[in-house]
Amino acid sequence: MQSILVTGGAGFIGSNFVRYMLNKYPDYRIIVLDALTYAGNRENLADLEKDPRYLFYHGSIGDEKVVDNLMSNVDAVVNFAAETHVDRSIHEAGAFIDTDIRGTFVLLEAAKKYGIERFLHISTDEVYGSIENGSFKETDPLMPNSPYSASKAGGDLLVRSYFKTYDLPVLITRSSNNYGPYQYPEKLIPLFVTNAIDDQPLPLYGDGKNVRDWIYVEDNCAGIDVVLHRGKIGEIYNIGAGNERENIYITHFILDYLGKPKSLIKPVKDRPGHDRRYSVDTSKIRALGWEPKWSLEEGLKHTIDWYVENETWWRHIKEKQEEYKRFYEKHYA
Ligand code: NAD
Repeated sequence: MQSILVTGGAGFIGSNFVRYMLNKYPDYRIIVLDALTYAGNRENLADLEKDPRYLFYHGSIGDEKVVDNLMSNVDAVVNFAAETHVDRSIHEAGAFIDTDIRGTFVLLEAAKKYGIERFLHISTDEVYGSIENGSFKETDPLMPNSPYSASKAGGDLLVRSYFKTYDLPVLITRSSNNYGPYQYPEKLIPLFVTNAIDDQPLPLYGDGKNVRDWIYVEDNCAGIDVVLHRGKIGEIYNIGAGNERENIYITHFILDYLGKPKSLIKPVKDRPGHDRRYSVDTSKIRALGWEPKWSLEEGLKHTIDWYVENETWWRHIKEKQEEYKRFYEKHYA
């Protein structure tokens, strides 16, 4: 494998993945296809602009012509491109259907046409729905509860069907909640870190007792790399670090680390259909030799430091981007 199409590479996980891969594999070439929605940002890859192994293409995975053209030039695809924010999906679900389902279909068709070597689809643990006890295995049924997770489940199942029907060499990863550098500041951790830095309220849903299994983004990228190279074609791999914490724990950690008072916490009405707990069983990917390297506390400290040191990056979004302000005012103001 020499040449990889990374869709959604200007987003949070995608940009971390591109950087991870180019650091690790000196002879790989990566083409990023990204629509630069409100969540996409070329700044996330600014340090790679001069690297001859990296090429950026501005366009949508829903555009057949663009996808056809790029697909004819690569050996493998890693599909990160998606609408990703659950809260936005509750109010504006259309774009989620277009990108997360139809966009995935367009990619699959082109991959089939050009006999792509590996098609790795990035899915999420949210497709399983909420779980009270125990952890989801890859064979568990999909019970998505939000328009976001339902459209991700739709894309995920389409990918599976192209393996079963056309023998397309697909792989799927379903990871838990990621955090780390370059995450768009409307998601919980960067939102709370940057609001706390500015002594602004931290809008915490419900009782704060919803549990998420957090993984540092670099650990997820390493897992995706392992699945891309060593995963068994047609298989699904959960990726999670086993760091289950209530949202209130994360919130207190951020405030304590930044030396800010708990009075900044502002409880807000819970999200409709809010999943109580996510948890994935990761024995399958661990059998491939992968394991997470970052403890939650070390990962959080590193992440908070990054936001402290990269104020220009997030201030540009929070203070200049109309879409950020529109969404924030509608939901949290
Ligand atoms: P993100 O919102 O930060 O980035 C998404 C990227 O996709 C953006 O750069 C955006 O411009 C691009 N994009 C959107 N629509 C597009 C289109 N039609 N064509 C091309 N590009 C398009 O998201 P993220 O957090 O980096 O998530 C990446 C992937 O990982 C998604 O598929 C998401 O479902 C999955 N995932 C994320 C998490 C998480 O915790 N962030 C957890 C599990 C799975």
